[in-house]
Amino acid sequence: MSEHTITVAGVAVDTRHWIGDERVASPQTFEDVSPIDGDTIGHISRGTAMEAAAAVAAAKAAFPAWAATSRAQRARILHAIADGVEKRIEELAIVETTDNGALLRSHRRGVMPRVAHNFRFFADWLLQLEHEDFETRGHTNHVSWDPAGPCVLITPWNAPLMLATWKVAPALAAGDTVVLKPAEWSPLTASLLADIAAEAGLPAGVLNVVQGYGSEIGDALTSHPDVRRISFTGSVPTAKRIAESAAANLTPLSLELGGKSPLLVFADADLDLAVDLAVEQYDNAGQVCLAATRLLVEESVAGEFTRLFVEKASALRQGDPRDEATDIGPNIHPRQLEKIDGFVQRAVAAGARAVIGGHRGDGQYYAPTLLTDVDQDAEIVQEEVFGPVLTLQTFADEDEAVRLANGTRFALAATVATGDPERAERVTGQLVAGTVWVNCFFVRDLQAPFGGSRQSGVGREGGTWSFDFYCDLKNTVTAPNGWNNH
Ligand code: NAD
Repeated sequence: MSEHTITVAGVAVDTRHWIGDERVASPQTFEDVSPIDGDTIGHISRGTAMEAAAAVAAAKAAFPAWAATSRAQRARILHAIADGVEKRIEELAIVETTDNGALLRSHRRGVMPRVAHNFRFFADWLLQLEHEDFETRGHTNHVSWDPAGPCVLITPWNAPLMLATWKVAPALAAGDTVVLKPAEWSPLTASLLADIAAEAGLPAGVLNVVQGYGSEIGDALTSHPDVRRISFTGSVPTAKRIAESAAANLTPLSLELGGKSPLLVFADADLDLAVDLAVEQYDNAGQVCLAATRLLVEESVAGEFTRLFVEKASALRQGDPRDEATDIGPNIHPRQLEKIDGFVQRAVAAGARAVIGGHRGDGQYYAPTLLTDVDQDAEIVQEEVFGPVLTLQTFADEDEAVRLANGTRFALAATVATGDPERAERVTGQLVAGTVWVNCFFVRDLQAPFGGSRQSGVGREGGTWSFDFYCDLKNTVTAPNGWNNH
């Protein structure tokens, strides 16, 4: 084992970048700390413009051969990566939990199997993708999806491997090569993915992983003239910086950003179900982009809703995310905790009432919080907190519900709880959001478009939409009557 390998819950993880077919160490490192106990996990290579350039060069060198690889062979390798993920589900799950504090049971049973599915889905998609052919005045149009080139994929810490592979899998399937930059608060599973991909026979340079602070390595990646696509999931301020940097080469961008999604609860809803949907928003300690953090409840049922909510939310068990019985784990970082508490304390100072929570717990935990008596233009209603903090507002009728729901600069998702199908149709038709759920939450199919409008994002991910993004679409028009007829 190299001096750069650390052991995380019994799993060996290389702390260096993966560039071409080599592990590359940077002279400097950054500290990776577990949110579970604040212990140092290890020191990770801290990339700079130099490693960014090396990784893009490796991706560029590997591109022609990978782009020319048959679809069948690309699909085989993607399935082999999925096999590798499936073999290592337990290892990936415990490493991810140690690194980002999300529940081990979700990583084990939900997230990591879906990581494998991401590769299988896009492998199968690739094989069924058909070229389109049609005629114009006897001429043949042939539309093809050509690989675009090296792609830079930048991902956040709240669902590290899941979000990274939503991008890596379609990019590789499309015939592109990749430089992946995971978040500095959760760098480990990307390194394991590099091992798995190499073992699965992915050629050198097709997937590169660089580590480091976005502020130090990000710009060199996103402004690089050889990069053909940038796909980013993260916060709005970072997205704006990336867009500026990418503007130098007009590099196409896919941006999946923050949210402040509403849950609309109508008086005709199954109130038990509506409360379950609301309590579910504390999942991953509220660190979910899609979380419906604004509860909008029809006045006539607000009292009963709140009573039931408090009952159910109070039964949630907060604690060590490795424990099967835990419902809510820690928040990612002391800085994030401070940010969350800042939002809550400012809201309370402005007149909000904490029905539950409203304060830190022990260590790196924040008490699940519900704030009432908040105005639509309050900071706590308008800004993404990214912690276990929900607000509750009431509405008098459908029009007001829709107005409140649509009344932020975000438009990622919305959830509607109602017992009336006609109301569901009317209301969903008026909501501005990339995904709308009716009487359910978080059901997601890779065939569906996923993404946000307004400042929640640019573009969509998922089947067709990912493929179109990672490809250069080309139309080849051929004259009628064959060849050499002049
Ligand atoms: P962030 O924007 O701070 O960081 C995301 C990534 O960008 C990290 O890898 C970081 O190192 C990198 N980065 C930072 N500065 C950079 C720069 N100048 N150039 C290039 N890269 C840079 O976001 P975060 O705190 O890691 O993640 C939380 C945010 O992500 C929340 O806003 C959340 O809503 C959002 N998110 C969105 C989705 C979605 O699908 N819409 C999913 C998950 C998370």
